[in-house]
Amino acid sequence: MRIILLGAPGSGKGTVAEGLRSACGFPKISTGDLLREAVREKTPLGLVAASQMGKGGLVDDATVLALLRERLARSDCREGYVLDGYPRTLVQADSLESLGLAGPEIVFNLQVSDEVVIERLANRRTCPNCEAIYHLVNKPPKVAGTCDVCGAALVQRNDDAPEVIKERLRTYHAKTEPLVGRYAAKGDLIRIDGNRAADEVIRDVRRIIDAALRRPDGAWMRR
Ligand code: ADP
Repeated sequence: MRIILLGAPGSGKGTVAEGLRSACGFPKISTGDLLREAVREKTPLGLVAASQMGKGGLVDDATVLALLRERLARSDCREGYVLDGYPRTLVQADSLESLGLAGPEIVFNLQVSDEVVIERLANRRTCPNCEAIYHLVNKPPKVAGTCDVCGAALVQRNDDAPEVIKERLRTYHAKTEPLVGRYAAKGDLIRIDGNRAADEVIRDVRRIIDAALRRPDGAWMRR
């Protein structure tokens, strides 16, 4: 099953994608993770991306598409995947279609208020090694400052600084939010209240996916 997660930064896309990966086995394809990995490894695409990330804007379409194309070609994506962070613009949605893959079966829009985003990102800590995500209050690591999964020292992403968060929200409203209308018009969109605790959101999303998987014709209940 091909799933797209839309939503503002901090709306929970990464957390939901990880929940679906561990519960249902769908590979989590996060363009943010792919970009950070390329930056860390100083690949040619990573060197281009590094200069564009961290200020709250978007990385250029060609760079992101090249990384995504390579990732989606791997064998684990044959049965489907969860896309977290792509598409982020109308042009990227066109590019996704132009890859010649079957279209998404479900697009979830995780709706959150800007206030919730700001609070969540300011308290977010991430593992630079395995990309696990923590929240200092709602999901603290067992040992302060240390990743539960791999033991690496947690960091605050430099784009989670308050002034960058505001710019990312502006970018989201200007460039990504129009995708909601596009997928809604196609009848592919399911709106999810993302202001709630992560396990409640994941439970809702899973219920909808399970119902879709039970439909022998592959169709799912439209809302
Ligand atoms: P968030 O969704 O919380 O902003 P991500 O990890 O998805 O975090 O993305 C971090 C940064 O990586 C973005 O601010 C942007 O600069 C870049 N990025 C991620 N996905 C894309 C994309 N599809 N197109 C352009 N830039 C992207």
